[in-house]
Amino acid sequence: MSVKSINALRQIMRSDLCNRCGSCVGLSEGKIVFADREGEYRPVVLQEPDEPLAAKLLNACAGKSFDFPAFREYFYKETPSFHTYTGPYNGIYIAHSVNEQIRQAGASGGMLSAILIWLLNTGRIDGAVVTGMSKEKPWMAESFIATTPAEILDAAQSKYIITSVNEILPRIQEYKGKLAYVGLPGQVQSIRKLQKMGDASVAPIKYIFGPFYGNTLHFSSVRSFLKSYKIRDYQNIISLYFRYGEWPGNMRVEMSDGRVAELPKFHANYLIPFHILKNSLLCSDLSNEFTDISGGDAWA
Ligand SMILES: Cc1cc2nc3c(=O)[nH]c(=O)nc-3n(C[C@H](O)[C@H](O)[C@H](O)COP(=O)(O)OP(=O)(O)OC[C@H]3O[C@@H](n4cnc5c(N)ncnc54)[C@H](O)[C@@H]3O)c2cc1C
Ligand code: SF4
Repeated sequence: MSVKSINALRQIMRSDLCNRCGSCVGLSEGKIVFADREGEYRPVVLQEPDEPLAAKLLNACAGKSFDFPAFREYFYKETPSFHTYTGPYNGIYIAHSVNEQIRQAGASGGMLSAILIWLLNTGRIDGAVVTGMSKEKPWMAESFIATTPAEILDAAQSKYIITSVNEILPRIQEYKGKLAYVGLPGQVQSIRKLQKMGDASVAPIKYIFGPFYGNTLHFSSVRSFLKSYKIRDYQNIISLYFRYGEWPGNMRVEMSDGRVAELPKFHANYLIPFHILKNSLLCSDLSNEFTDISGGDAWA
């Protein structure tokens, strides 16, 4: 007897194959939600979707499987060059924004934000799916559709805690206009799967971008970081940066009463082995190869 799709999906949700992309949550019509975002941060089934919907969610899940050769063939057939480390490519460049404000705002030269702003200013897109920090809970990341250069800049810089961009697929589907999309490799792979399926949820997406990818961290990394500064009330965070200031920047936390905890990015890397999302260790798409353009840091 074949396994019901929802049961197969449940197995992925509970395993390290789940990269928390958010597709199953976003497309589930409210039947699947993320629980315990400040802890294990896992999708859980509130109400079983019917088999056709569950089968679609399972198909969209890149944690289940992602056939690199087949997707290269489908999306990059005409691409002239190939390297095992990067996948198919047209060109590899060293770049930074020539606009000083964008360059300073970005994680590593602001190239991704600069391209988004150029696409917006030239009318090639009407909005960009980006990931900033939540206004309500400034210690959590939140994806949204930016429609102005200021909003794109507000979401610049790398967020090293878990993000679930594809949770907002319903908003993407409803969007009346052309969108660029920025996501991590697992998120992008799911978008590519949905595009291949011809799913309406991704129809507005005209361009796909993303950062290179080493790892993401559980929220426990932020709590642990603060603890070393004897700060325990993380709910009083008003700003959290992972790459604050001049490159490579600092991890910096600002509290509502004026306390500040700040550490150079490379020193803050001590958090990685203790708080890494296990799925990061399984990710083999470090250059985010299923984007149109991906951006690595200066050390890449
Ligand atoms: C979790 C993570 C791990 C990374 N690991 C490496 C690495 O190991 N090696 C390496 O060379 N580079 C890595 N990078 C990429 C690097 O940090 C820069 O993002 C990249 O060089 C692009 O810089 P930029 O100035 O052009 O981007 P920016 O102009 O700062 O734009 C970044 C864009 O990415 C979006 N974004 C940021 N964080 C996330 C997120 N978590 N989920 C979804 N979207 C996001 C922002 O909203 C923004 O649109 C990582 C980035 C992230 C987010
Ligand atoms: S669709 Fe994304 S969030 Fe859902 S189980 Fe698969 S990898 Fe995890």
